[in-house]
Amino acid sequence: MTRSADELFQHFKEVQYADRWVKIDGERHYIVEADLLLSEDQLWDYAVERAALEAADTAIPTDEQGLVGIRNINNQIVRWRPGKALTYAIAKSSFTPTQYPLVVKAMEQATGDWEAVCGVDFEHLAHLDATGPSGNDESPLFWVQGVDTAGKVIAAAFFPNDPVHKRRVIVDPVFFSPGLRFSREGVLRHELGHVLGFRHEHIRSGAPPDCPSENLTYTFELTPYDPSSVMHYLCGQKKNEAVGIVTLEITDVDRAGALAVYGPPNKTFDFYD
Ligand SMILES: [Zn+2]
Repeated sequence: MTRSADELFQHFKEVQYADRWVKIDGERHYIVEADLLLSEDQLWDYAVERAALEAADTAIPTDEQGLVGIRNINNQIVRWRPGKALTYAIAKSSFTPTQYPLVVKAMEQATGDWEAVCGVDFEHLAHLDATGPSGNDESPLFWVQGVDTAGKVIAAAFFPNDPVHKRRVIVDPVFFSPGLRFSREGVLRHELGHVLGFRHEHIRSGAPPDCPSENLTYTFELTPYDPSSVMHYLCGQKKNEAVGIVTLEITDVDRAGALAVYGPPNKTFDFYD
């Protein structure tokens, strides 16, 4: 007797993801690809797509690719609406008094860096920080929230097409560790890359073999493979090469990919209403 899809999923969840989940606000989120959080429904879709790819033996296509966007089922690129302010607030009470200003500063730097390379506009609604997500009528597009995942992630983010309640960037205490091998603003540049709709870089044949394979369904190649990409993360950090990777800078190749999706930086233009 073959097992039902539901039984297979239970196995997938309980064996492969036995300790790869975190609880945030009472809801379990599964960690895939090192820093992406999926709800149980999303994990189901992920498992089904993955099983299909494995069955077809097409898990790792052989062509190289660089900055990777998301496409929807109609082959449209997923991005935020033009002109939309990408507002965020930082849940102050979820951080210690020493951590909070570090997050504020790193977010300022990371958002400014994306604004400098493509046509996006982030805005920190600092007046919401002190009261936090539950104490405000006004909601930013997303919250930046401290969550202790026991170091399972350094930080994690969401994509523009994720459900509204999943729009948060979480930051683990390890983010503040003096031994953190990445720069803090670099980690946030990477997470904000996801927020803008970019997938991980380290997917295809050009990537080091210790990089995890990923589900490529609904992705979109924007540039050639770039091992130094800000979206190349948590794998293939070879000791003797590509030292710059740990700073997670936005490379020229990333810039080209981001420009293709979001256009030139807003400061390029003199806007009129
Ligand atoms: Zn990532």
